[in-house]
Amino acid sequence: MEYTSPVEYNEERIHAAAVYCSDGRVGEHFDDFLKNGLQLPRYDRVALPGGPARLAGYADDASHQQAVLDELRFLIEAHSLNRVVLIQHQDCAFYQQRLGVQGETLHHMQDTDLTKAAHVIRDATGLTHIEGYYAGHSAKGMRFQPVPLDTDNSASPATDPAPKHT
Ligand SMILES: [Zn+2]
Repeated sequence: MEYTSPVEYNEERIHAAAVYCSDGRVGEHFDDFLKNGLQLPRYDRVALPGGPARLAGYADDASHQQAVLDELRFLIEAHSLNRVVLIQHQDCAFYQQRLGVQGETLHHMQDTDLTKAAHVIRDATGLTHIEGYYAGHSAKGMRFQPVPLDTDNSASPATDPAPKHT
């Protein structure tokens, strides 16, 4: 069947990419956060199971990590990216099933992996504007919280994406 999307095509690039998990249950939330929370419409998407975990240096994932890094480097060069947003999400099956971790350990590992992934990206590409977020379920949908990245001279301080209205 043929289909025409009514969404207007805008050729301007936003020069940012997001790395997140493929999990379809949270895809719309990620999109909403990037577009409306961070004001990054049309950002480049690097979606794969586990998201930032795939860049966090797990030894048995090394060849795949190199492949993901190559793809990210391509986007950074071809699309002149200057900013990368890394997002982890609650109950990620990659951690639960592939890495066998659960509960609080899982959340802690995910936060730590954001810093590891930021280091890997910075070392491989030279890009320094990298931010990390954790998306958790809440009664109202999904809550995205900045995760401070422990990187030397990179990682701009996480900023509150949504201005508060009083
Ligand atoms: Zn996941």
